[in-house]
Amino acid sequence: MGYNINDKGYYGEFGGAYIPEMLYPNVEELRQNYLKIMAAPSFKEEFDQLLKDYVGRPSPLYFAKRLSDRYNTKVYLKREDLNHTGAHKVNNTIGQILMAQRLGKKRIIAETGAGQHGVATATVCALMGMECIVYMGEIDIARQAPNVARMKMLGAKVVPALSGSRTLKDATNEAIRDWINNPIDTHYIIGSVVGPHPYPDMVARFQAIISEEMQWQLQEKEGRTTPDYVVACVGGGSNAAGAFYHYLENTNVNLIAVEAAGKGIHSGESAATSVLGKEGIIHGSKTLLMQTSDGQITEPYSISAGLDYPGVGPMHAHLYKTGRAEFISITDDEAMTAGLGLSKLEGIIPAIETSHSLAVLDQKTFKPEDIVVINLSGRGDKDLQNYIDYFKL
Ligand SMILES: *Cc1c(COP(=O)(O)O)cnc(C)c1O
Repeated sequence: MGYNINDKGYYGEFGGAYIPEMLYPNVEELRQNYLKIMAAPSFKEEFDQLLKDYVGRPSPLYFAKRLSDRYNTKVYLKREDLNHTGAHKVNNTIGQILMAQRLGKKRIIAETGAGQHGVATATVCALMGMECIVYMGEIDIARQAPNVARMKMLGAKVVPALSGSRTLKDATNEAIRDWINNPIDTHYIIGSVVGPHPYPDMVARFQAIISEEMQWQLQEKEGRTTPDYVVACVGGGSNAAGAFYHYLENTNVNLIAVEAAGKGIHSGESAATSVLGKEGIIHGSKTLLMQTSDGQITEPYSISAGLDYPGVGPMHAHLYKTGRAEFISITDDEAMTAGLGLSKLEGIIPAIETSHSLAVLDQKTFKPEDIVVINLSGRGDKDLQNYIDYFKL
């Protein structure tokens, strides 16, 4: 049994493409072409060039000395926070805009909750001179004004989703509706390892640059390509998928996926999908999601907007179900404390999503000789107001 996707688009029992018939031609066009396009030398060349010159890759693998001393183990930080736009998300949007161009698309749509994926999408659309429409719940537009302003500055049109709870899932519905109505000229950029096959696999492959670099960076620093642990936070699961990717089949490498427990796993205000979720279909794939007994999606909660998602991608559902990855839930308070800790110990202010991964150091004891790589998925600039309010700075 493998941990990667099979040729039918499933990770074990999870994945697939559960989509309305009207969407079938778009998804099928992508499915038939994505691997071919990604394998073309000219695609690889342009992708690598942009990652280098525009995003600023390779992102450093930084040995965090003071953090390591504090926890008596060897901690490395994979610095995705240093990427252009401040997180790992741009690795995927660069890949997908190149994919869209190869497929002859002229128009890009996306949906966003907190706005981070919207900004990463608007950024690459500006870069390529492509039309960009971002659907966003009306409530989220009000909550995330700085990101809305960024998207507008970058030339994107931000369209409010006015139905339902006026948050992410309503924005997703609007984006899907748009795609059905514009099947020929439009590509839908999904922001995590979620959605119908082939999206989870395609996004994982774009993010796999993270563990690809880790291998040679560890070889340089430690004389071996593998760490003992890789730790990453999971919203939909894309930064974790990228950090795990090249280690999935090597069970000597322990994978730790960190979810947001919010105010506590059983508080009713949480986003700990693996613990609380049941099998179901969300965003076109079969996976684990938080739902009521009659199948209604439960509103998730986390202090960090990027982890506030009611499902996980099918890869992670499979990693959970098979026990390949250890899943740990971290509360708001534990995450905030860890975020402040990293700031003071290493001079790095992390995104609150990332602070959840850092909190694992307080939860779990590692051996002094263990090599623990924590994927530092993003920087904390966007979260400053949250940190200010929380710590009364
Ligand atoms: C969006 C985001 C996440 C969560 O998304 P994944 O797809 O699970 O990686 C994590 N960290 C940061 C900094 C983000 O912006």
